[in-house]
Parts: sequence; structure tokens; C-alpha cells
Amino acid sequence: MDRQPELTGKIMKLKKERNAVILAHNYQLGEIQDIADFVGDSLDLSQKAAKTDAAVIVFCGVHFMAETASILCPDKTVLLPDEHAGCPMANMITAPQLRDRKKEYPGAPVVCYINSSAAVKAESDICCTSANALGVVESINAGEIIFVPDQYLGHYVSTKTSKKLILWPGFCPTHARIMPENIIKLRHQFPEAKVVVHPECRPDVIALADEVLSTSGMIKFAGREDVNEVIVGTEMGIIHRLNKENPGKKFIPVSEQAICPNMKLITLEKVLWSLEEMSPKVKVAEKVRVKAKAAVDRMLAVGRSA
Ligand code: SF4
Repeated sequence: MDRQPELTGKIMKLKKERNAVILAHNYQLGEIQDIADFVGDSLDLSQKAAKTDAAVIVFCGVHFMAETASILCPDKTVLLPDEHAGCPMANMITAPQLRDRKKEYPGAPVVCYINSSAAVKAESDICCTSANALGVVESINAGEIIFVPDQYLGHYVSTKTSKKLILWPGFCPTHARIMPENIIKLRHQFPEAKVVVHPECRPDVIALADEVLSTSGMIKFAGREDVNEVIVGTEMGIIHRLNKENPGKKFIPVSEQAICPNMKLITLEKVLWSLEEMSPKVKVAEKVRVKAKAAVDRMLAVGRSA
């Protein structure tokens, strides 16, 4: 029996009673995207969270995203429907490890990708997203910059700037599964299609793309009148939104392997339970929050687009 309508009905009722808003990342399961008030990338969602009047934020994404919502909205209750939904890339660096790296390069400012823990953000000078990483790096008045944790995003930015980036060996295991041969094969099959890839992909994959875009950049690109067929090099969940917003266009996932198991931990049942039990909550300790917020605020001051 299809339980989706029943679960959706219960979630909607409880959401109203709790004065909650449901935010879903572009990589979430289609049924989660369909019940969300907003679907977007992690920063879009946190900014939406900061502006909402709702008392409760149900964050359908991974742990660092819920933390970012808590950093920006300390007075709201932030729920992450599965507390095990972490991001392996964010977990590849800890605050003590970053402190050690800073000692190795005294005076070098730290840029941290938003895909990092609140504790790592608190040790950083400024955050960036995949959409604005180059703009953030260029805004810094220093020739040498520590960039954490994504070595591939950092490498991509380093090909576009004269500044020297000291990279951390972190990476996204989901994007690392996308291989050059996937693109070569699909280009052969769909010669008219444009190839867009996320900057978390490996450099040899990025080298084969027509466009290197964040998820919000891909959504915009897909909506262009001159774009009809796209080979999409990122987590497969985005295909749901691309199809929904662009009927008649063709979106081809670059690899069926590009699925983030952590994003897929959030299910309708867990969203319902989290609203029923008002748990699991994510709350960043005030001391860490204030420092992490300063890094996020500096990024917002630079602006989002690179
Ligand atoms: S897709 Fe990669 S970067 Fe995004 S949450 Fe999953 S593991 Fe982390």
C-alpha cells in the first residue's frame, strides 16, 4: 500500500500545529522535496530559515546544514530527522586539525567551504559555497590562503586565481565516484547535450565539462531557453527538481553511482517522527556559534556570486 499520501497528510497537519517550516536540499529524495516549503542548496536554505517566522525548522539535509541553520537562527528549534545524516567530507577535518594547520602557515587566512562543522567554521576567517568560492578567495587581501576541506573545489578555484591555496585532502565520496569515462560515454550517446558538473568533482572530470556549476547554478542553467538536453554531473537527487521545473527537457545523470547515502537517510516517516517527538535537535553551543557566524557573515558581505 502506498503510505505516501497518509504520511504527507500527517506531516502537513503537524507542521502547522508546530509552526514549522520544512527545508529540503536539492539532493533529497523526490518525496521529501515534494513536501518541502523550500528546496535549494545549503546556503539558500539557511537564509530562508533565517527569514522565516516559523518557530521550528525541519532540515532535510545533512548535519552541517542543520548546524548552519542553528548558527543563523539561534532562537529557533532546528530538527534533523535522522541524527546519523552526516557529511563524510565535513568529517574529514576537525577543529584541532585546522588549528595545527594554522600553526604550520602562520598568518595565512582560512577559507572554509560551507560543508564543514560549526567548530571548523569557528576556526576559519571566512566561509564559502561552491557558487561563490572564487569570489571569496579573490576578496582576501593575502597571497597565501588555507582552503578546507574540499581539495577538488580548492583545486578548481586555484586554476582561476593567482593566489596560492594550501589545500586539505578532503573530498566528497559521492562526487568522487563520477569518472571521466562516464562523461566520455554519455557525450558519445547524447552529442547535442551540454555537460555540467559540480566543482566537488575530480579535476579530470571538470576538464571535460562545458560548465562547472553549483547546484543552484545548475538549476538556473537548466531553465535557459537555449538549453534542452543536459548531462548532469552531481548527486542524482537534483534530477527530480530539474525534471519537475523543466517539463519537456532531458536531464541525464552522469552516473547512477552518484548517490549520497547520507542525504537519502531522510524519509517521510522520519520527518513525521521528528515533528511528533521534536527530536533529534541540532543546537550549536553559543561560544562556537558566535565565531562560526562571523565567518558566515563575512562571506555574505562578499556576496554569493563568483
Ligand atoms: S553529496 Fe558529498 S558533500 Fe554533499 S552531503 Fe553527501 S558526502 Fe557531503
